[in-house]
Amino acid sequence: MIPKDHPRYRSLVARERIARCAREGIVAPEGLAAHGRGEAFDYLLSEKTTESAALAERTAAAMLLAARHAVISVNGNTAALAAAEIAALQRASGADVEVNLFHRTEERIERINRLLTEHGVRVLTGTPERIVPLSHDRALCLREGIGDADVVLVPLEDGDRCAALREMGKAVITVDLNPLSRTARTATLAIVDEVTRAIPAIAAACASLEAGEAEHLIASLDNTYLLRAAIDEMRERLAHALE
Ligand code: ATP
Ligand code: MG
Repeated sequence: MIPKDHPRYRSLVARERIARCAREGIVAPEGLAAHGRGEAFDYLLSEKTTESAALAERTAAAMLLAARHAVISVNGNTAALAAAEIAALQRASGADVEVNLFHRTEERIERINRLLTEHGVRVLTGTPERIVPLSHDRALCLREGIGDADVVLVPLEDGDRCAALREMGKAVITVDLNPLSRTARTATLAIVDEVTRAIPAIAAACASLEAGEAEHLIASLDNTYLLRAAIDEMRERLAHALE
């Protein structure tokens, strides 16, 4: 039992969950390393949603709602940490949900589908095809899912695949605590926030966007500005760390 008053309570709960999901074959071993990289960057944000991340989250909501076909692409880490949050975002945004893995095995896909379904997500299933311009299994996705989407939300994505989705002409929204990653720099919109804070914030924004606000947010989207703001927050925190 993790004591509730532990200063790192949320982080320890997340670690426990991701370790359990790794033992159950939902999270790939490599996913544990990726989680650690995320934790390090979250430390530099004091594990809080910054103002610029909140703006990015509202903009993401606007993009999902304005899309012709929005798809949320879920991997093992995202499913382990935020299955219930994905279900709520699906209800708020009307987006499809597809499981897409970097370290792809049919067994993991099935386990993740089951976990998501148990939490109330309606998961797209079908026969994946090699559609994304990448080699090997990383090209696989559903023609009627990510293949057809104009807007894709891919939390914790790899830089390569993010770039390939952009090459296909899709708008890519990512959630990535590392503002220096290729993913964050290649995405149409990068949300520099922890995935369990980001997904509920996007869902809340879907329900509270005001008339005209969505158009304004989309028209003024500037990913470089958002990444710079995230880096500034981290730099500020480092500069005053020992005060
Ligand atoms: P890239 O391939 O884009 O240059 P990378 O190799 O660091 O970057 P990956 O390891 O492919 O990225 O993907 C994991 C990314 O997700 C990391 O950048 C990490 O910071 C981020 N990340 C991990 N856990 C979380 C989390 N819980 N919330 C938000 N971001 C996270
Ligand atoms: Mg990578």
